[in-house]
Amino acid sequence: MKIALIAHDRKKDDLISFVTAYKPILAAHDLYATGTTGKRIMDGTGLDVIRFQSGPLGGDQQIGAMIAKDDMDMVIFFRDPLTAQPHEPDVTALIRLCDVYNVPLATNMGTAEVLLQGLKEGFVDWRLIQERKN
Ligand code: PGA
Repeated sequence: MKIALIAHDRKKDDLISFVTAYKPILAAHDLYATGTTGKRIMDGTGLDVIRFQSGPLGGDQQIGAMIAKDDMDMVIFFRDPLTAQPHEPDVTALIRLCDVYNVPLATNMGTAEVLLQGLKEGFVDWRLIQERKN
């Protein structure tokens, strides 16, 4: 699966801890990230990550473009709900596209944990069920 990992600045330490804890699961998948988040993950965990631009410079939109092409399977996005972001419209657009394409999205550590446990167990992918119906 292709998994996108993004964290706003005040959430980056949390994401590194999370990725470290779930490294055995994440290592089996293709990981993508916005620029700074990706560098922190590679330096902090040793995992390979395909990096896009930094979020404020268009990285969220690049991940959104992959979703629009049906080329991203899961997004883990640790947003900072207490700090205004200059690229808030991009953040909103990315979350909206996840909903348009039924891409599993976690915006906090609690949900991310449930998603990765589901990944381990082999969860039902509703997008495939929808495709079969169409
Ligand atoms: P960054 O971008 O990984 O380059 O910090 C994340 C974001 O702010 O959306």
